[in-house]
Amino acid sequence: MSKGSLGRVALLADGVREGTRDMSKATTEATEKEASSQAVRSFTARAYAAGSATAALAPVTIRRRAPGPRDVQIEILYCGVCHSDLHQVRNEWQNAMPTEYPCVPGHEIVGRVVKAGSAVKTIKEGDLAAVGCMVDSCRTCAHCREGLEQYCETLPTFTYNFPDKHLGGVTYGGYSESIVVDEAFVLRVTDKLNPAGVAPLLCAGITTYSPLRHWNVDKGQKVGVVGLGGLGHMGVKFASAFGADVVLFTSSPTKIADGLRLGAHEVVVSRNEAEMQKHAASFDFILDTVSAQHDMNAYLELLKRDGTLTLLGAPEKPATLGVFSLLFKRRRLAGSAIGGIRETQEMLDFCAERGITAEIELIRIQQINDAYERLLKSDVKYRFVIDMASMD
Ligand code: NAP
Ligand code: ZN
Ligand code: ZN
Repeated sequence: MSKGSLGRVALLADGVREGTRDMSKATTEATEKEASSQAVRSFTARAYAAGSATAALAPVTIRRRAPGPRDVQIEILYCGVCHSDLHQVRNEWQNAMPTEYPCVPGHEIVGRVVKAGSAVKTIKEGDLAAVGCMVDSCRTCAHCREGLEQYCETLPTFTYNFPDKHLGGVTYGGYSESIVVDEAFVLRVTDKLNPAGVAPLLCAGITTYSPLRHWNVDKGQKVGVVGLGGLGHMGVKFASAFGADVVLFTSSPTKIADGLRLGAHEVVVSRNEAEMQKHAASFDFILDTVSAQHDMNAYLELLKRDGTLTLLGAPEKPATLGVFSLLFKRRRLAGSAIGGIRETQEMLDFCAERGITAEIELIRIQQINDAYERLLKSDVKYRFVIDMASMD
């Protein structure tokens, strides 16, 4: 289903209007038929949503489909707060992925399985389970077959703000008490780690783990991580777990001690030109996790010959590239998006084995709007996680 064919969103909102979308008459009839048969097989769940790009998030009631044979119904215990949630809620990606309102964000989900369909094999009622940024994909294109669903030819079904094949309208994310997801997109979680600290692994974790693995970051390599937020702190943890010599670049001098504690061997305050200069042409690999517009050329200059700068951050405004930084040392500029389901499970298993979790600040869902304001000030240590028990 394309975004243009979005159906009518049946959202039972307190304070958020019911959304209506344009579509042809014929499609409307078909979708309404589908929606009314689905309506019987759905249930309501409490959630938090934004009603517009400028509205605060507020309580709503949404519909979730009743689990089918291959579905898993999860009672959400914790959901991490990714900067992408904020970009999306405020429609900052309107050129690439415009936001449909009401928007229920959240794609770092850990919860307890309360129902598993009759065909579900890998997980059962009572198990801990996790859901990340995707809830489905075409499963047939070359990328999906390779386990790289994040690069699906027709785009994966993202956990929120993407056409919902089952109920119509758009998908709703993890700022909610419940979610229903096809088994193929549900991850298994160890019960040996703090589940609140596991939640951010589902986006911040996999998004940093995947490029570090893809570019074979290993012992003896000099690796930079730019920005100590949700992604950045996981990047530091993974790069140091892989044995690299890690340098953190931060714009916040107050984060120096934490950077070292989290595994960086050195911390550079990026606004200090002399400190930056000391590292010129010395890095094998740099991960840039900054959420706002900044000068990426300064980091290209720090790569040695054939080094790679991989962009993970997705600021609203386009970046400017000085090509000479690339030409003179055959440097590479790359990007990377989350990770596939198989690799996400591998990352979760790696974390279980090594005892790796995110550093979190647990919040009540009523604090979500303040948490967004703090994200904008880089005041995050180092991931906000919503305790869903606070939903009332
Ligand atoms: P976050 O927790 O808010 O961290 C971002 C960090 O960037 C801040 O803590 C800050 O670190 C640094 N920063 C912010 N503004 C800056 C500025 N003006 N100049 C220099 N540094 C600045 O965000 P996040 O959740 O880690 O997400 C980071 C970005 O990655 C977002 O744009 C998000 O949408 C994107 N993302 C991409 C993917 C993907 O698949 N590629 C997945 C998830 C998220 P310091 O205080 O240390 O400087
Ligand atoms: Zn995310
Ligand atoms: Zn595909």
